[in-house]
Amino acid sequence: MGLGRAYLVGAGPGDPGLLTLRGRDVLGLAEVVVYDALISARLLDYAPPAAERIYVGKRAAAHALPQEDINKLLVEKALAGKTVVRLKGGDPYVFGRGGEEALALVEAGIEFEVVPGVTAAVACAAYAGIPVTHREVASAVGLVTGHEADDKPDSALDWDALARWKGTLVFYMGVSNLGVISANLTAHGRAADTPVAVIHWGATPRQKVVTGTLRTIVDAAAVANLKAPALILVGEVVALRKRLAWFERRPLFGRRIVVTRSRAQASELAAQLDALGAETIEAPAIRIEPPQDMRPLRDAARRAGEFDWIVFTSVNGVDAFFAALADNRQDARALGGRRIAAIGPATAARLAAHGIRADLQPEAFTGAAVATALAAQGSLAGVRILLPRADIAPKELVETLAGKGAIACNVVAYRTAPDLSGRDAVRERLAQGEVDWLTFTSSSTVKNFLEAVGAEAVRAARPKIASIGPTTSATLREAGLEPTVEADPHTIPGLVDAIVQRERK
Ligand code: SAH
Repeated sequence: MGLGRAYLVGAGPGDPGLLTLRGRDVLGLAEVVVYDALISARLLDYAPPAAERIYVGKRAAAHALPQEDINKLLVEKALAGKTVVRLKGGDPYVFGRGGEEALALVEAGIEFEVVPGVTAAVACAAYAGIPVTHREVASAVGLVTGHEADDKPDSALDWDALARWKGTLVFYMGVSNLGVISANLTAHGRAADTPVAVIHWGATPRQKVVTGTLRTIVDAAAVANLKAPALILVGEVVALRKRLAWFERRPLFGRRIVVTRSRAQASELAAQLDALGAETIEAPAIRIEPPQDMRPLRDAARRAGEFDWIVFTSVNGVDAFFAALADNRQDARALGGRRIAAIGPATAARLAAHGIRADLQPEAFTGAAVATALAAQGSLAGVRILLPRADIAPKELVETLAGKGAIACNVVAYRTAPDLSGRDAVRERLAQGEVDWLTFTSSSTVKNFLEAVGAEAVRAARPKIASIGPTTSATLREAGLEPTVEADPHTIPGLVDAIVQRERK
């Protein structure tokens, strides 16, 4: 067995949109993902469903896996021939101990690549409305650990130099030492009225920013009860926040909204709510499973060379097909010379991660539109088309293709099953009063959700409820729940708009 390969990937500070394109691509190749606390769960969705996901971070009570054990784990998995992605908060080499992990890989003779990430200082400052450098205000920025903030002669930090620093200072891991840090800076000569910001959960919908000066910040942060994770920013640039804060001004900033997943719709709805500053809580309604009988898919993969077109309609279909190729001891070369269509940008991106560029990416997703796009590439008479899809995929596409003379071969690549995961998390957040809105995009999502979570738990928590239209509202009322708003038009943008209008009141 050959050696595997390891990637040290920076995940950015919390907003999943701040992962780099390279980071997303290598996640798509992962067989093992080793990840920390502070990583958005949504990023893990970029890894193939079959990838092993290993959490090594710190949770409130439990301790993190010691660094040495993490190093060992990475080496062990790579030596076993796996493609390992080590997903780390911010940038891997900024207070992330990424250097130690890289050294362990080098010592074991394992090839590795580092994918830089947006480090917390830069991202949190930007989201708090603070440029870390600014003409005539700050010409330098220093990234400092606040972990060892004492002022002993053998201290890791040179407080004289830090106090004299002409520019912005950003302290990581320092919020519990905030008092020591501000006292040391002033004791060594920094003006007590220097502006300071403490940024808690920066670049996430939970972001909280407290500002003051070296003299007042300890009390201000105590009043706001700010805890880790937080960054401390010291310098005149903090004053710009008054004019430049943009993130917290978005219409749904900080609202906690449950999105009930009905396949493709959920991500569109979640993306729109995210973009308005909401924290979306996804309550999955379905789960992806392998087909009961794997033989038809493996057989189709083996005969891939006999098809003129292979049409992928989902990320799951891509993953299942490549897994079947691997089971046959085949690889992407089996698709050499075939023409490939990808429905939707996510499907195209997943193909790209496997080294395949789609020849055709139809704009619309309906069966008829896809068939028309294929026909526009040339007559479909006698053309052989393979469609690796879900068990419940609508028949329309296959029928339309057949109607145009094609020999369309639908093969079940994966199954969908009801998904109860995430149920406990949603229940918990409802019970804690941490849900502002529930959203429903169809009657079936109402039924799925209430069956999983329990109508009683919902009634007791009294969240606001957004319904996409009259049919969905009727189903809600049958369950004794009155929608707070109903979308008009009955579309995802209409639903989002209804929530925004209501929140403006
Ligand atoms: N490698 C990471 C830093 C790891 S050290 C990076 O480049 O960003 C962890 C510290 O980073 C935390 O204690 C906190 O000070 C800071 N941090 C990381 N994410 C943060 C966030 N979203 N908001 C505020 N501080 C954050």
